[in-house]
Amino acid sequence: MQIRISAKNLGALALPGFCPRCFWIKMHSPGLPFQIFPGIFSTIDSYTKKVTHNHFARYDQLPTWLGKFGNQAKPVKAPHHSKFQVMDGKTDILLTGVPDEILQKDNGSYIIIDYKTAKYTETQDSLLPMYEVQLNTYAYIGERQGFNPVSGLALIYMEPQTDLTPDNLDSVLHEDGFLMGFEGHLLEIELNPEERIPPLLERVRKIYDQPVPPAGNTECKDCMLLDELIRIAQSR
Ligand code: SF4
Repeated sequence: MQIRISAKNLGALALPGFCPRCFWIKMHSPGLPFQIFPGIFSTIDSYTKKVTHNHFARYDQLPTWLGKFGNQAKPVKAPHHSKFQVMDGKTDILLTGVPDEILQKDNGSYIIIDYKTAKYTETQDSLLPMYEVQLNTYAYIGERQGFNPVSGLALIYMEPQTDLTPDNLDSVLHEDGFLMGFEGHLLEIELNPEERIPPLLERVRKIYDQPVPPAGNTECKDCMLLDELIRIAQSR
């Protein structure tokens, strides 16, 4: 059976605590409960994109927080999500997902960017392995959709600026509310889609095709709590 998987969900396989059982259940049950995700993060990502594009329209260059790409690249339109996808014939998996930003460098090559609203840290982000796969998946799809060659990947962390003192209060207040700033930090991600993505697709197919859910992660606190709950219920 054909499988459809997003770049981000594929990235979950690279996380240290990845659980094949949870993955199997999610892939076989698209209507799982507790899947509500606050919309504020995508609102901030889309606002960040507007700032980038308006900055380019006004100053003919990208904002400084896009680092070295600032004066050597321009934003280009990313395709609609219904177009930015690729079918892997070997595993019969449809890979989907659209990056937040695609830049084109002066030499014609492309840079793929994803925005994250989070505190910036070069190594401490526990989700970094997932983001690395997510961006490499965009490169994998992009190069098959005409964005060829992709020459770089980067995460832009938009870090909320939360320091507030009585002295700077007036600068953030306005009649109906307050402003909160964001500081951008660029983190380059290693580009190696052809090495990273095919083995993950094969692993997805292998897990998905198992007739029953595989064993769970033995370190998982949620499963331990569930076992404890069952033990208590059975002892009554
Ligand atoms: S071990 Fe944890 S992560 Fe795996 S299925 Fe159980 S609850 Fe989910």
